[in-house]
Amino acid sequence: MSRFWSPLVHQLTPYVPGEQPRTPGLIKLNTNELPYGPSPRALKAMRDAADDTLRLYPDPVSLSLRTALGKRVGLPADHVFVGNGSDEVLAHAFQAFFAHKAPLLFADVTYSFYKVYCELYRLPYQTVALDETMQVQIEDYNQPCSGVVLANPNAPTGIALGLDKIRQLLEMHQDRVVLVDEAYVDFGAESAASLVKEYANLLVVQTFSKSRALAGIRVGFAFASPELIEGLTRVKDSFNSYPLDRIAQAGAQAAAEDEAWFCEHVEKVKASRERLSAGLAALGFSILPSQANFVYIHHVDRSAARIASDLREHAVIVRHLKGERTADWLRVTIGTDQQCDVLLSVLRDILLRND
Ligand SMILES: *Cc1c(COP(=O)(O)O)cnc(C)c1O
Repeated sequence: MSRFWSPLVHQLTPYVPGEQPRTPGLIKLNTNELPYGPSPRALKAMRDAADDTLRLYPDPVSLSLRTALGKRVGLPADHVFVGNGSDEVLAHAFQAFFAHKAPLLFADVTYSFYKVYCELYRLPYQTVALDETMQVQIEDYNQPCSGVVLANPNAPTGIALGLDKIRQLLEMHQDRVVLVDEAYVDFGAESAASLVKEYANLLVVQTFSKSRALAGIRVGFAFASPELIEGLTRVKDSFNSYPLDRIAQAGAQAAAEDEAWFCEHVEKVKASRERLSAGLAALGFSILPSQANFVYIHHVDRSAARIASDLREHAVIVRHLKGERTADWLRVTIGTDQQCDVLLSVLRDILLRND
């Protein structure tokens, strides 16, 4: 509390990011980063960008990067927006599109930042409960709203919806923006980017933080009709004209163009996910079917909070989210096979101890 804060700041409940530990040597399975370093081509591009030209402002519209991103999905640059992490793209989208009387709809169990943006921009919202199997039921979104935000695959569940369901949502709310947050789409779900030409109300948001192993440079992007891109750009240019620095633009573009690195590492994560899931099942965990680079797990006779703290004592960190429907679950990022093996062996020890 401070007498200097505006009333709005007093009321905020900010997002709490997963821990970035200062102790070296921890096995870090708590924030869905990739366990592998980024594309060597991206690293080289960033080293090359670190020269005298850094005295100049970057391209304010990141045209070269947007062109490269659009090319991958068959869209011209005027259908592409980039921001300082997809969190920034989401923030601009909330401000640009969801200020109506009716509430914004999103799932009761989903990315917790959505609620935070609603508070920041004073947008009414209504959560829609996942069913008892933690799945989204599209029919439940058939109600007056300012728009819909859907993480696909969802986080923290990892469960993905097919494009038929996304289409259903887009048809249901033709006069509202449907934002599909595809932070994890590359690990096994189908991207709605292919529907952008067909639906003017679709906004697809993706990031370099997960499948491109570039969380450290903060680059996110969106695909949508030029009408929606212009809305985002108006907000961006009223906030920060240069959200992506020169190094980030160069690194992201090289990463977007390195298809071989991308395919190899996404496949690696998917194989490790299947391997880890089998190991966890053998230890008595229930695991939701994941199309992401994490699994959401639950153990019948051991509290999730307890497992998380026991794991931490053994130098492994995973994410435990509080909240009525999430308190019994743990979200575990897919590490290297070696890290997953350490996790499984520590879990085995923890579960064998019956104190
Ligand atoms: C990680 C994540 C983001 C944010 O990604 P950045 O691009 O690093 O800001 C957005 N949405 C979901 C669902 C995420 O898990």
